[in-house]
Amino acid sequence: ARQRFTERNLASLKLHNEATESLPGGNTRSVLYSAPFPVFMNSGKGYQVFSEDGHIYTDLVAELTAGLYGHSQPHILSTLQSTLTETGLNLGATTKLEMQHARLLCERFGLGRVRFTNSGTEATLHAIMGARKYTGRRKIVVFGGGYHGACFFFCEGGSAENNVDREDWIIARYNDIEDAKSKIESHATEIAAVLVEGMQGSGPCIVGDHEFLLAVQESARKIGAVFIFDEVMTSRLAPGGLQEIVGLKPDITTLGKWLGGGITFGAFGGREDMMQVYDPRVQGGLAHSGTFNNNTLGMAAGHAGLSQVYTADVAVEFNKTGDKFRKKLQEVSKGTKMTVTGLGTILGIHWLVDGRKELRTLEDRREDKGLLELFWLEMLEDGFWITQRGSLALILGTPEGELDRFVEVVKKFLEKYKTL
Ligand code: PMP
Repeated sequence: ARQRFTERNLASLKLHNEATESLPGGNTRSVLYSAPFPVFMNSGKGYQVFSEDGHIYTDLVAELTAGLYGHSQPHILSTLQSTLTETGLNLGATTKLEMQHARLLCERFGLGRVRFTNSGTEATLHAIMGARKYTGRRKIVVFGGGYHGACFFFCEGGSAENNVDREDWIIARYNDIEDAKSKIESHATEIAAVLVEGMQGSGPCIVGDHEFLLAVQESARKIGAVFIFDEVMTSRLAPGGLQEIVGLKPDITTLGKWLGGGITFGAFGGREDMMQVYDPRVQGGLAHSGTFNNNTLGMAAGHAGLSQVYTADVAVEFNKTGDKFRKKLQEVSKGTKMTVTGLGTILGIHWLVDGRKELRTLEDRREDKGLLELFWLEMLEDGFWITQRGSLALILGTPEGELDRFVEVVKKFLEKYKTL
């Protein structure tokens, strides 16, 4: 299969070799590197992407969930075009665009106040800085398997050592109430914040139990730490994000990805008294800079998408479609080595050596690397663009027939390799 991959993608191979002359490994986003070499995409339209090798793919990467609207959603496109021609690029000034997007985010996610950043990574950074300022404490409780940005990850390839501020992280076990409680309570007076995802995206898709998440929130409250809920990935799962489904009331929520309409974006917000540390009128507060924090394109496209495309009703329906899709995949995976995890429109496909059907912590994830790669190679051959690690996300407007075709292709794969 590897051999066929190389033969089918010779243009990508050539570009990859050229790219390695200026980029380490020919790559500038680790998650998009794939062995033996990455596919080079040339363009996208709607729910499809087109490779330099002339192949057409149904896009199930969806820019790691940020591509919710697809590649040319008409309303997003026309907003971007009119913003470019009528407003122009960044104005080096405060604009109505950021005000209107902020207002809508506050409404949708129940935030008292919100601030924008350039990425989800920065949203995490500022949420943490704000929590430290607010509490006067330093340590942060996070969970093994968590991913909160390019320098805040505790999953494969990451540990306290390769993150910034290594001495300040306390890492607890995900989905383990007792461990979380004991770690939080034993360092009570030092902890500024507890930072958690409702579903660990890099798992891919290790879903948090509701009781676990509620217990973590309660423990954080009990010791006076800030409860930060990372919804950078999960905000698309319901009109008010995953917190609405679970019944959480985070002190601070971090956001990103699709909420910029496909343009680089991040945001953090929540309790008004906590966000006040960022109010420039308040003496002794925190400065919060970022040249592109209020970039015109992201503010306009994000607002247009949230107000007119991904409305509350659409969000509910879209995630029902995702649930149906996941259940169909789970159905065909019965009695096989494949495990399907996820919520709504975000999914993870696993090939676990011990055949377990549920993932609860990072340690549960022992993938059969060979099968994982074989699956990726074969899905590509069948015209589906998925990540090599097995994460999938849906694009709005992808025909259900294409999702059903994926289920069929997976079924055939399972039959073909049932002896492996
Ligand atoms: N938090 C979570 C849960 C994420 O999934 C991501 C991105 N994958 C981030 C934070 C970081 O966002 P960004 O890539 O925009 O920096």
